[in-house]
Amino acid sequence: MKHSVAFVTMGCAKNEVDSEHMALRLERAGYSIEDDPEQADVVIVNTCSFIQAATEESIEAILEVAGFDSIAAGKAHLIVAGCMPARYGADLEAELPEAAAFTPCSGESSIVEVVDEVLGIERATMPPYQFGASERSKEQASQDDVQTRVPSRRVSAYVKISDGCDRFCSYCTIPYIRGRYHSFTQEDIDKEIVRLVGEGVREIVLIAQDTGRWGDDFESPSTLAKLVAHVADTWPSVWFRVMYIQPEGVTDDFVEAIACHDNVCNYFDIPFQHANARILKSMHRAGSGAEFLELANRIRMRIPDATLRTTLIAGYPGETDEDFEELCAFVEECDFDYIGVFAYSREEGTRADKLEGHVDDDEILARAQQLRDIADAVCAPRIAERVSREMDVLVCGCEEDGELYGRAMCQAPDVDGVTYVDAGLPGDVVRVRIDDTLLYEMEGTVLS
Ligand code: SF4
Repeated sequence: MKHSVAFVTMGCAKNEVDSEHMALRLERAGYSIEDDPEQADVVIVNTCSFIQAATEESIEAILEVAGFDSIAAGKAHLIVAGCMPARYGADLEAELPEAAAFTPCSGESSIVEVVDEVLGIERATMPPYQFGASERSKEQASQDDVQTRVPSRRVSAYVKISDGCDRFCSYCTIPYIRGRYHSFTQEDIDKEIVRLVGEGVREIVLIAQDTGRWGDDFESPSTLAKLVAHVADTWPSVWFRVMYIQPEGVTDDFVEAIACHDNVCNYFDIPFQHANARILKSMHRAGSGAEFLELANRIRMRIPDATLRTTLIAGYPGETDEDFEELCAFVEECDFDYIGVFAYSREEGTRADKLEGHVDDDEILARAQQLRDIADAVCAPRIAERVSREMDVLVCGCEEDGELYGRAMCQAPDVDGVTYVDAGLPGDVVRVRIDDTLLYEMEGTVLS
């Protein structure tokens, strides 16, 4: 009888992709993937720990799984994978005796050996997709023939184009968790897209910690603009979308690649994080509000209907009332379509943790809420301006009450809301007239 493995995945889309890749490796090694964690022989909790709140949620998930009857009785096993083992190492092992094994991000390519060992399975040969050593390096960054598992009827999928980050923003733990930046090869990205498209996926979302750097670490450097043009030309009936592009990555070539391809969403997800030049410098980031406004104008000059999303941090150490007002004024001036606001989170081991002038916790939360209110006041009217416009919508599925929903090119999965439509099947791209909006959701009529 096959042993079964289930996944509980915390955090962002990048973690979802990692879980899918681990699941595929295990399937190829003969394991079955179980949807219900309480029925599985092994439960892998793929954790997130980029901030304290995410760590706490992951701990809750681990403890919930550890409390399953099957695990408490020793009939099933818990493995903790991903960011938490990478960030906390041996300390975590001492804190969580319930776990049978720990697999940091860098060891996820060895997940078959880890599960085999937990279950006491010995195999003469390893499955052919094994990369070899568990530590990732630039040479080992290839995704080889790893494909993504696609649940039936899934019409949109994430494809990671690189991993790691070299920027070392002062507040961020990711470079310590995920390691140095390494691009995946175009060939491996193509393989992943081929498989996903073959399984019915109609939208590919290219993601990474820092998508704009793609290709600059190759022996013969390439660019994100070239990658986007290549995939858009190769799969003309698939929508492509790029997320997480740092301001420096928005080159004229990249804007042009988006402008010249109808199947690439006119969508720019640029994390600015702040607008005050002194705070940005302290964050170990470049730029200023004025430069970011100029960048937004440059995009809109070339692509007037471009959708702009950003993320911002409120309450960074040293942020004065005046700095915060400057950030609020920037939001009011830039006309973003979508804004994600984060309250600054003090993270051990980061440079920002050691700075003077930490803002009081209650004040951080108050500033974040104030910024969210301003963001809603700026963004909701921009969404409402879409009423009576016509646009293509990719039908994604049905709500529990049977209502059909999809997303327009101006709506990224998981973060921007959806468009409710009155006809179509999942995977269809339908022409829709927008009839109404409610904050970030849209509702439209399919045009015959
Ligand atoms: S760019 Fe900065 S915030 Fe983003 S992952 Fe890298 S270090 Fe972290």
